[in-house]
Amino acid sequence: MEELQTPVLDNHLHLDPERGRGMEAVEEFARLGGTHLLLVNQPSWKLGVESTDPEDFRPVFETTTEIAAEATDHLPGRAWPVLGAHPGLISRLVDERDCSPAEARDCMQGVLDIAAEYVREGEALGLKSGRPHYEVSDAVWEASNDVMKHAFELGADCSCAVQLHTEASEDLTEVADWAEERGLPAQKVVKHYAGGRLAGPTPSVMSNKDWIETAAKSGEPFLMETDFIDDPDRPGAVLGPKTVPRRVRWLREQGYDAAIRTAHVETPEHVYGIDTESTLAR
Ligand SMILES: [Zn+2]
Repeated sequence: MEELQTPVLDNHLHLDPERGRGMEAVEEFARLGGTHLLLVNQPSWKLGVESTDPEDFRPVFETTTEIAAEATDHLPGRAWPVLGAHPGLISRLVDERDCSPAEARDCMQGVLDIAAEYVREGEALGLKSGRPHYEVSDAVWEASNDVMKHAFELGADCSCAVQLHTEASEDLTEVADWAEERGLPAQKVVKHYAGGRLAGPTPSVMSNKDWIETAAKSGEPFLMETDFIDDPDRPGAVLGPKTVPRRVRWLREQGYDAAIRTAHVETPEHVYGIDTESTLAR
């Protein structure tokens, strides 16, 4: 495999070394030319946490930071954890744990407070929040927006990026404005699972050829991701760990060299303050 001569960052994926492929997936990514990963914690319920007490979510973050440290040993660059509460948690709390939307909001905001501790201590790179991508009641929608606004306050306070899981959209300027109002620049709000076009936050584009080409042609800042879930029960549910390096190779063949630099050097620096080039020479 020829060298890609560039950092290659997958901006959003999950690893489950217990049940899934774990480090084998990291090695596959690296073999194809991948260098850096942003590792997002698995949904808490997948790790067996069914509590309404935010303190009980700490092991989810501990596990994720441990996996990121191990993944770093298998990469020419490194992996960083991104920690937070999956927006689908609100439905589990309301529908299965008899929480009111306000109680669920308080729990999730508390979980984010703990995630922010990891960011302040330099153990995590950013926060993860958002709102359901499926239909919910007005009360749950409001509560979800309040959770997300709290994440923006924490992001502003820690000077860190906030990755969002939201409904499919090409215009989230209202959400980006909520971040700006709280002191978090819109560029530090990242929409995970984005298409090739997005107004407001920085898009983390799912690495389908069409979407990546749209983003590459736009000349705008963007990131690339797979949302690999490493779940043996759902093979092929999302893109595999080889996809980002493969798409970078394809972008190079198509002559999109500037877009490669945008997605793997410049945007990561502007959004997260990370230097993917110097961390390659570890
Ligand atoms: Zn994900």
